[in-house]
Amino acid sequence: MIAMPPTTPLLFDTDLIRRYDTAGPRYTSYPTAVQFHDGFNEADYRAAAARSNQAGGPLSIYVHVPFCDTICYYCGCNKVVTKDRSRAAPYVDDLAQELALQGALFDADRPVDQLHFGGGTPTFLSNEEMRAVIAAMSRHFRLKTDDSGEYSIEIDPREADARTVAVLRELGFNRLSLGVQDIDPAVQQAVNRIQPIELTRTVLDAARAEGFHGVSFDLIYGLPHQTPDSFRRTLDTVIDMAPDRLSLFNYAHLPTRFKPQRRINEADLPSAADKLAILGHSIEQLGAAGYVLIGMDHFARPDDPLALAQANGTLHRNFQGYSTHAECDMVAVGVSSISQVGGVFSQNTKDLAQYHEAVRAGRLPIERGYALTAEDHLRQRVIMALISHFRLDFDDIEQAFGIDFLTHFAGSLAALAPMQADGLLSLSPRSIEIHPKGRLLIRNICMAFDEYLNPEGIQRFSKVI
Ligand code: SF4
Repeated sequence: MIAMPPTTPLLFDTDLIRRYDTAGPRYTSYPTAVQFHDGFNEADYRAAAARSNQAGGPLSIYVHVPFCDTICYYCGCNKVVTKDRSRAAPYVDDLAQELALQGALFDADRPVDQLHFGGGTPTFLSNEEMRAVIAAMSRHFRLKTDDSGEYSIEIDPREADARTVAVLRELGFNRLSLGVQDIDPAVQQAVNRIQPIELTRTVLDAARAEGFHGVSFDLIYGLPHQTPDSFRRTLDTVIDMAPDRLSLFNYAHLPTRFKPQRRINEADLPSAADKLAILGHSIEQLGAAGYVLIGMDHFARPDDPLALAQANGTLHRNFQGYSTHAECDMVAVGVSSISQVGGVFSQNTKDLAQYHEAVRAGRLPIERGYALTAEDHLRQRVIMALISHFRLDFDDIEQAFGIDFLTHFAGSLAALAPMQADGLLSLSPRSIEIHPKGRLLIRNICMAFDEYLNPEGIQRFSKVI
């Protein structure tokens, strides 16, 4: 029998959220990228790929396309802003070259269960260039052709039309995630992302007509000129369009770190109280419309595979967020992308020229990485279980890692005691159960198990809410 997602409403407790609003990692990986170092090299990655083949199983592929036509002022991504479309062609050739190098390292019979194109703007590539990337991938990896994989792509509706959507479907993509952010014209103006709602509707309608399995919308709260009322109107429109999934990201204003953010007028940003109100109302509004919180900032309809996977205990989390597919080793190509293979993380150079030079010389363009220790694997399992399932059974961990949970994690459990007192979770002798009040603060709970956090380290992450 399929378990249905929990119907308990998410509890938004303003006082608690204020109290726990510290900086913290998003745990798309553990350890986080802060631990990566440049002592990690190509030989380390090749050895990891060999280990991955010994373990076998399906693969996941991530492709990073760094180009964007215009800059969004809130952006903290790794991207190259250019109007010169001719820059895509040599990059496509480089991707093909890297796919050949990577493909040679993995057993040819391993199916690709998961594929994701992110950016930047993946559809900065023309339809023909996109075909060329998929063709190169098919030469070196076993892509699924029966539509059973989770093949997704991030779409900027300003950079795609119905024809693009049809071509993507034909190439095997079955999930789209649309960058929407906010529908209010004043907000769009202030962040330099003018995107009339008709553009989003066109892509959404085309996705439905082409039989995409699901469409997700990305929204951001905390942008200039947003108010609780304006964002309520944005959500009304979004809910009316009925996406299957929604991400509601917190805008972190860090202008010293992200140059484009210096063009945002700080006086136009909502106050901390308004930001909290926007979040609280949004959670209410989405809950009333039938969406369930998957975790962190992701919502889904209760019959969506993500919500069902969470209820069944089969949900996973990786660099792209949450996934219904079993944990696969992830081969990532393109500038700045991060592979997770055979117990290591490996990140490519962020520099386009260096990337080009390396792949043309037949070298993997690795800049830094990290090999997980036995302790990292253990803590990774604990953190990923908490963030995906909102519960942790000590027996499972003890059986998998041969430890005594209560002894090994005595310090972490002590750190959770005040959170239990605040009603965020229940600690029983053999398990941890996260309560509805604790779901929005799941990062804080995971931080208790993070061996690398210290006051200096914490400052490198964005605020939890
Ligand atoms: S938000 Fe997306 S589209 Fe905008 S500049 Fe950043 S990567 Fe490009």
